[in-house]
Amino acid sequence: MLIDGHGRVVNYLRVSVTERCNFRCQYCMPEKPFSWTPKEKLLSFKELFLFIKVAIDEGVNKIRITGGEPLLRDDLDRFISMIHNYSSDIDLAITTNGYLLDTVAERLKRAGLKRLNISLDSLKPEVAHKIAQKDVLDRVLKGIDMALEVGLGVKINMVPLKGINDGEIIDIMEYCKARDIKVRYIEYMENRHAVDSLKGMHGKEILAKIKESYRINALGREGASPSFNYRTDDGYEFGLIDPHKHDFCESCNRIRLTAEGFLIPCLYFDEAQSIAKAVKSGDIDGASEVLRAVLRDKPKENRWRVDESIDDISARAFYETGG
Ligand code: SAM
Ligand code: SF4
Repeated sequence: MLIDGHGRVVNYLRVSVTERCNFRCQYCMPEKPFSWTPKEKLLSFKELFLFIKVAIDEGVNKIRITGGEPLLRDDLDRFISMIHNYSSDIDLAITTNGYLLDTVAERLKRAGLKRLNISLDSLKPEVAHKIAQKDVLDRVLKGIDMALEVGLGVKINMVPLKGINDGEIIDIMEYCKARDIKVRYIEYMENRHAVDSLKGMHGKEILAKIKESYRINALGREGASPSFNYRTDDGYEFGLIDPHKHDFCESCNRIRLTAEGFLIPCLYFDEAQSIAKAVKSGDIDGASEVLRAVLRDKPKENRWRVDESIDDISARAFYETGG
């Protein structure tokens, strides 16, 4: 069992397989010149898998593949099947923007994938375009349909932004309700890479919008998940992820691995240690040592403060960390 320096059991690993993306979501990576990490620096699936085996052997039983856009990485289904074949009990999921899903959903399902979280910020083509800075909606909706058709579990993530998609909170809920899938509203998290003018809706503002259409009951947090669940008076369950509140840190159960091999104990902390050297030389004990050191260093709380200057927040972007 993996236990961090604050006594929390850590059983959840998020693995970013690439920082690259085919979207430029305004809240994540606006369109401006980028210098991507050279491809040679990315860990191969074999190297990532070596660490994943160590993590599973030590107690990780939940893995999410993310990015950047994970479906940009060739042969992702091969990676999924490596993990699934090693331990079929692992709760294995992917977070994706859905753009390429139409063509790969079936292969991913066959490889052993169970669940997907798909980002869907708008049902209006022009608003989706404005947020992603690309014409994306049709393909994303096709991807969602295909994922459902092949029998993958689907959850939708929406980031409500003031003056952009704040009028669609109920529309997205109705879309999800009609497909019997759960939506999770995510508070916009300020960061140095987002478009400056963006203003996110806070959790209580999101709930107030929903209350204009439904009476809602609070259900509580789902285990160690940052998502707080609610139920509408007609029985639909949705989630709210409000990191500004900090109240999920005390039960945090996760660590993150970047595509370059940095093991990160918390989403917005600069501290990280590299497993690259260990996995490149097949050094299982070395990888295990880094894992334990990162757990010892895992901070008590995330550094999300509304009143904190953006310069005090970690420079690392979501697309690098695997948001
Ligand atoms: N590209 C994939 C996607 O968009 O689903 C996976 C990576 S993305 C970084 C993971 C999640 O982080 C998405 O649901 C996205 O909406 C969310 N996200 C990115 N930037 C965010 C921000 N500044 N505030 C809140 N959520 C954010
Ligand atoms: Fe890409 Fe996802 Fe970031 Fe959007 S949120 S730019 S899809 S990594």
